Amino acid sequence: MGARPVTSWRCRWCGADDGSVVLDLGEQPAADAFPPAGATGADDVYPLRMVLCAGCGLAQLEEDPTDADEPRGIEPAALVAQAREAVDDLAAAGLAASGARVAEQPSPHGGSWLGQLAERGLTVVPDEPGADDEERVDLLVDSLGMMHDADQRAALADRADQLAPEGVLALHVHPLGTILRTSAWNALRHGHYAYYSVTWLVRAAREVGVVPVGLWRYALYGGTVVLALVPAGSRRAAEHAGSAALADLDQVLDDERVAGVTDPDAVGRLQAEVTTTATALRAWVDDHRAEGIVGYGAASRAVALLAAAGVTGRDVRAVVDASAAKSGLSMPGTAGADGAPRIPIVEPAALGGLRPRWVVLFVPDLLDEVRRAYPEVEASGGSWVVAEPAPVVVAPDGITTR
Ligand SMILES: [Zn+2]
Repeated sequence: MGARPVTSWRCRWCGADDGSVVLDLGEQPAADAFPPAGATGADDVYPLRMVLCAGCGLAQLEEDPTDADEPRGIEPAALVAQAREAVDDLAAAGLAASGARVAEQPSPHGGSWLGQLAERGLTVVPDEPGADDEERVDLLVDSLGMMHDADQRAALADRADQLAPEGVLALHVHPLGTILRTSAWNALRHGHYAYYSVTWLVRAAREVGVVPVGLWRYALYGGTVVLALVPAGSRRAAEHAGSAALADLDQVLDDERVAGVTDPDAVGRLQAEVTTTATALRAWVDDHRAEGIVGYGAASRAVALLAAAGVTGRDVRAVVDASAAKSGLSMPGTAGADGAPRIPIVEPAALGGLRPRWVVLFVPDLLDEVRRAYPEVEASGGSWVVAEPAPVVVAPDGITTR
């Protein structure tokens, strides 16, 4: 089955009403709706679908009836490390010089770059745009923020408007090409309105008067990119044309052409990955349930994966999460039709008492830091397991095996 046409919909960028449903996760709970542990009753569920616009090629959330408020997550060490690398890269390219005025768009994913930019001598200003040029900024950082804007055209135009004549917009995104390459269909969630290809971003940027001067790639989330954009016609745009910082952009655009990021049939292959990933997890859980399984990371991607695999509180005893705000709650969508309870969310301190044989990790970027932070898991004979795309066991030497 391929992608199918969408009805009653308007593109969040170009306003076209012609597009394809490329990924349909059916009815899903709102991303912030963690019921109290022990609560009974059904979850409120809403359609969750990704549409690829036939007009402009933006992959986007079809509709969001949930009004979900994404809680600010715990900042993983991997995100801090990425920010450091990105600040180094911008500085090396001459795009984050001492004395420059910098602002940052808010993001529920945490990971502010401002502290590191201030250490380099940049001046931090509030992120409200001013009316005259003196209020505008030399550098505007947006790390995983813009995807939370329902109106994508307004969001990008507003960011471009905040730039001084020689200002730089640094956009950090988890691109659609990575989502396709890593089969990360569960990146789709309410509240995330856009799933950018770099191909689309560069085109859209030109429409609001900014052009790329650099792109850098990072290992985070299977591969994120920072795209640096400056006003078209600026001195910087001319200086950086053909610079080394643009070599990776050409490579990414080539890769995206091969992957087919604007082709509904190519993007629509994510749908088959839902079944593949869920079936693999289901089978692994069935094989190992009796030995004692705990999950780690009450992230939205875990909610979608557990629901797709039909994993309940009879399969997984608890999901550990470092966010105190989630402790005492439970994973939505994990109650069984057979009366099985939802999976409770517990604090990391509970790991010692649970003594799980298996800890299934739903946020793979956390692997190194959770192994360091919770040595009691492996010390008491337990093993970490990376959940996706198919469960792999992490050996004591850190090597993963099926
Ligand atoms: Zn469009």
